Amino acid sequence: MSATETAHEGACCAAGATTRRGGAPAEVVLVSPYEIGRQPFALAHAAAWLREAGLKVDCVDLAVERLDPARLAGARLVALHLAMHTATRLAAAALPLIREAAPKAHLCAFGLYAPVNADYLRGLGVGTILGGECEPDLLALAQACCGGGPAEAAAAAAKPRVRLERVAFRVPARDALPPLGRYARLLLPDGGERVVGFAETTRGCKHLCRHCPVVPVYRGRFWAIPVETVLADVAQQVEAGAEHVSFGDPDFLNGPTHALRVARALHARFPHLTWDCTIKIEHLLRHRALLPELRALGCLFVISAVEAVDDAILARLDKGHTAADLERAVALTRGAGLALAPTFVPFTPWTTLEGYLELLRRLVALRLVEAVAPVQLAIRLLVPAGSRLLELEDLRPHLGPFDPALLGHPWRHPDPAVDALQRRVQAWAAEAERRGLPRRESFAGIWRLAHEAAGRTPPPLPEDLGEPVPRLSEPWYCCAEPTEDQLAGL
Ligand code: SF4
Repeated sequence: MSATETAHEGACCAAGATTRRGGAPAEVVLVSPYEIGRQPFALAHAAAWLREAGLKVDCVDLAVERLDPARLAGARLVALHLAMHTATRLAAAALPLIREAAPKAHLCAFGLYAPVNADYLRGLGVGTILGGECEPDLLALAQACCGGGPAEAAAAAAKPRVRLERVAFRVPARDALPPLGRYARLLLPDGGERVVGFAETTRGCKHLCRHCPVVPVYRGRFWAIPVETVLADVAQQVEAGAEHVSFGDPDFLNGPTHALRVARALHARFPHLTWDCTIKIEHLLRHRALLPELRALGCLFVISAVEAVDDAILARLDKGHTAADLERAVALTRGAGLALAPTFVPFTPWTTLEGYLELLRRLVALRLVEAVAPVQLAIRLLVPAGSRLLELEDLRPHLGPFDPALLGHPWRHPDPAVDALQRRVQAWAAEAERRGLPRRESFAGIWRLAHEAAGRTPPPLPEDLGEPVPRLSEPWYCCAEPTEDQLAGL
């Protein structure tokens, strides 16, 4: 039993119990299908809310543990957290097993991908859909399912909603989840590894990037989690062994004053703790003066959703930056001693074979090859229900009607060679990951595939493709299709 589980045992009597294996059967089971290798904040936060109300809660994280029917058998409510595309895909595969194991349980889905896929999820037996700041609604549903009669449960279930009012943030019940050692680790360029904790300082986002799944739910709003709550969450994870914290905020600098308060307080209390976060290119440029301080406060690397290096595509996505801005951001972050880890959506209906080659050439020229996970070079644009992409007139000719099974609108590239390249790059990225190839070797394979698709002989790659950067050991991505291994885990 981990230290956190031991600590939790003492807390069970006062309020509700958060049960893990071997405890009393839970009446509410919270399930996370996938969170990019992170110990899920949303599950631990919801567990804290329910436990405080005296409910017996179990948390199952399918990313690191198998679905055990015994843990579901007594459940009155099973709620799945759908934070991203991959998680929703995995949830669809898990739902028949959950229904079989918990035939009396009411099923709920919450998180970013629940409201936009409501019809599909209802078809899979999900009775309640919640989105946004949904903990109060989840609590009301759980109380109705566990304490009330069928009429109360039905009334609570009939109120699906996307709540956009501030909730009172609790310190997440981390002890409800598997220990941090089972999640992604920090891999350092010198071969060292660190145990990683996962926290959030804000929820939502103030931007309206056209392709982003946060936008249809939060519509430009975000909420800061109080500094003391963030600190208490990090403190319990440090006690559980965390040596590095990965902040999962959609954008760490949505509220720069709040971000600095958190970072300063964190560093003052845990001077040896390192951390990473996600910051958009626009914010890296606007808040360039803060970057050296973020580094001094322990930030090791910054993930940034670059998406493309074609200005026309960036304008369609409403990203708020240009290809030239990426070059400035690379220089600024390097100058501050921060590693930049860009993410991409390289395959869109406007991508050309030449444009894809230009992306690869840009990564070589900027010496970013070691900073990009191979799967990033295979991502295909997703068009979920309610996406602002649907506003684009020049997307419509490529788009089919919403297909619930795809969790979005299917689209076909006007040049079949681009779609064929995407499939080949995705298959190669999965194969390279399975074989544990170094990033430069994976990139060389993509370089070859892209040149072959364009009918060119690949030129030799330079020796210097950039320095390896600190990164997390989880290589997969929120918008990628689940791998066979992920599905087999169910
Ligand atoms: S892509 Fe990033 S910055 Fe843009 S809306 Fe989404 S979370 Fe916000």
